Amino acid sequence: MDDRIQVWVGDITTLKVDAIVNAANRELAGGGGVDGAIHRAAGVQQLQAACRRIGGCATGQAVMTPAFNLGARAIIHTVGPVWQGGDQDEANLLRSCYSEAMTLAVREGFRTIAFPAISCGVYGYPKAQAVAVAVDEVERCLESYLMFKRVVFACFDQSMADLYRACLQNQAT
Ligand code: ADP
Repeated sequence: MDDRIQVWVGDITTLKVDAIVNAANRELAGGGGVDGAIHRAAGVQQLQAACRRIGGCATGQAVMTPAFNLGARAIIHTVGPVWQGGDQDEANLLRSCYSEAMTLAVREGFRTIAFPAISCGVYGYPKAQAVAVAVDEVERCLESYLMFKRVVFACFDQSMADLYRACLQNQAT
C-alpha cells in the first residue's frame, strides 16, 4: 500500500486539505448526500453561483471551484456514474472520476486531496466494487504523481472505512 493513502471516518467538509472532491451531479446543481454537505459548509449561494458559471460536468469528468468557507483551497467536482447493473461502462467512468480529479489537482500544484466514496450513496454503485476501483486508480495515479503527499478516503461511516482498509490490505499482500 502506498503510505500516502489514508482512510478517515468523518465529515469530509472538516478536512484541511488542498482539494476536497465533491460527488456532484451533471448539472452541478447541488443535492443531497455529500454534495449537500459541501454546499452548506462552503456557503450555498457562493458555491451555487460558481457552479452555475461552469454550467455542468459530464459523468467521469471533473471541474473546480473555490472552496469559499471550507478549510480546503478548492473543491473539485466530479460526477460519478449511476449504477445501472455494471454493463454501462460504470467502472471506467468511476475510474475516470478519480484520475480526472487527481490530474486537475496536480495541475493546480495541490499536494493533498480528500475523496468521498463517489457513487456509493444514491447513485447505488456496489460499495466493495467502487472501493476496489477507487483504490486501484488512486494507487496508479500516485505512481506517476510523486509530488503528491496525501490522498484521504473520507468515509461517512465505519463500515465504508472497513471496505477501504480491507482493499488496501489485500493489495499490500
Ligand atoms: P452519489 O450521488 O455519488 O452516490 P452520495 O452523496 O449520495 O453520492 O454518497 C456518496 C458517499 O458519501 C456515501 O458513502 C455517503 O455516505 C457519503 N457521505 C455523505 N455525506 C458525507 C460527508 N459529509 N462526508 C463524507 N462522506 C459523506
